[in-house]
Amino acid sequence: MSERITYLDNNATTRVADEVVAEMLSCFTEAYGNPSSVHRFGAQVAARVEQARAQVAALIGARESEIIFTSGGTEADNAALRGVAAARPSKRHLVVSAIEHPAVLETADQLEREGLTVTRLGVDGSGLVDLEALAAALRSDTLLVSIMLANNETGVIQPLREIADIVHRAGTLLHTDAVQAVGKLPVSVGELGADLLSLSSHKLHGPKGAGALYVRGGVPFRSIMFGGPQERGRRGGTLNAPGIIGLGAACALAGRQLSEVDAMARLRDEMEQAIVRRISGAHVMGAGAPRLANTSCICFAGVEAEAALVLLSEAGVCASSGAACHSGSLEPSHVIRAMGIDPAIAQGQLRFSLSRYNTRADVDRLIELLPDIIAKVAAVSA
Ligand code: PLP
Repeated sequence: MSERITYLDNNATTRVADEVVAEMLSCFTEAYGNPSSVHRFGAQVAARVEQARAQVAALIGARESEIIFTSGGTEADNAALRGVAAARPSKRHLVVSAIEHPAVLETADQLEREGLTVTRLGVDGSGLVDLEALAAALRSDTLLVSIMLANNETGVIQPLREIADIVHRAGTLLHTDAVQAVGKLPVSVGELGADLLSLSSHKLHGPKGAGALYVRGGVPFRSIMFGGPQERGRRGGTLNAPGIIGLGAACALAGRQLSEVDAMARLRDEMEQAIVRRISGAHVMGAGAPRLANTSCICFAGVEAEAALVLLSEAGVCASSGAACHSGSLEPSHVIRAMGIDPAIAQGQLRFSLSRYNTRADVDRLIELLPDIIAKVAAVSA
């Protein structure tokens, strides 16, 4: 077992930045008031929560009044779908893509059980949504279309502006799950044309358990969380002030550091080229599409991903796979399946995701270890 940790799983979660921790610490022991309290002690915290709202809004080009704080990306996605469904009860049809995160897919499944009709759009071999199928799917009673900005497994970025134009021409609304995109590429809700957008703090060097939903002014939306007037009646519950203040600080930091992504893309590309050169049967997923600078999803033909992850972990390398183990056999992830990848290739799906804390030494370590690990696992899997 190696003592040294090489963390290449930043799409799962990121290290909280020191600057963010510093902002948060005083909220636990000094400025611990409830931001909803009338007294001065609460008002001081409320002012910092509003500063965080301004920081989140600034990163995505929104107005402060359009930001609702949530407990993370999952709640933001639930609130987007259910909140619009509650506000537009005459609209009975929902459109999602087949490669959404379960936070969207399972909410759509639940809305279907409750009586809505759901269309699930397919993607091509690069993981891009079929725009013709989208246009054909839209109906006069379509409530909402939910298509993610960037996929968590492959990093593939959807042409959201084109999608928004199609959706708006049909007179309906667009939600985008931008949990993996915010902080990794410039995101402007105006330029994207999104009516609602989800983001999550722990994917951009903020704390876990905090996130936000952007709801464009004028978009019909009802709270899905009852029990208080917080967030102007759009999300009941005592505000997670430390988390929100951390999210705000993380957004401010991300805005200042967005230019670093070019260097990250170069490092990622070199990593992929080295892996493909050294390991036969390695296929980069979504290689033909625009992708997040930090994400590399590689399938290794004839390899059980789980076994490779265990060996990598023993060597101190943290990575992940989208493939899920069901009753002893490895099922390719819903994303890779939707892309139509051959199951023999898909089962060897590994994801390496970088952050600004990764160095060339981390990538070199992966490149040094991976060929032997893949060879070992392939020999056993054969
Ligand atoms: N959406 C996407 C695309 C994600 O990658 C994730 C987390 O992995 C989520 C939503 C859920 O966010 P959270 O972990 O903040 O609930």
